[in-house]
This record gives sequence, C-alpha cells and structure tokens, in this order.
Amino acid sequence: MSDQLEARLSRVMIRCAESGEGVPAGMRIDVASFETGNLSDQMANCPHCGQVHTWSTEDAWLEDIHETVSPRP
Ligand SMILES: [Zn+2]
Repeated sequence: MSDQLEARLSRVMIRCAESGEGVPAGMRIDVASFETGNLSDQMANCPHCGQVHTWSTEDAWLEDIHETVSPRP
C-alpha cells in the first residue's frame, strides 16, 4: 500500500430516503473498483434518521476525499 494508491480513493456516499441528506457509507474505494464492483446489499448507519440503510452501486456516488477535508469559509 503506497500513499499514491491511498490518494486515489474516494468516499462512497448514499442518499437517506428519510431526510434526503447525503450519508457516508463508511467505505473508501477507487473509482475503477466502484464502477466494476457491482456492490449490492451494503449496509450503512445513517446519522440523519438513525436507521440502517441498505444500498447498492446504483444508489451510491463517490465523493472526493480531498474536497471534504477542505475547511469551508
Ligand atoms: Zn437515513
């Protein structure tokens, strides 16, 4: 595992059906694996409604980790 590989990982996000908020699925993956992996029946604890959401690849999108760590003014 190199730092270069780590830098290419993105955070998987899903949408909470209850609140409409984005929910971090607790998984980090590179784009190629996400697009070819065909994930299904994945579980994510939702901080917005307190439920556990089940999701698959079509429910999810990737968020650039480097954007999320930037401080917002
Ligand atoms: Zn939720």
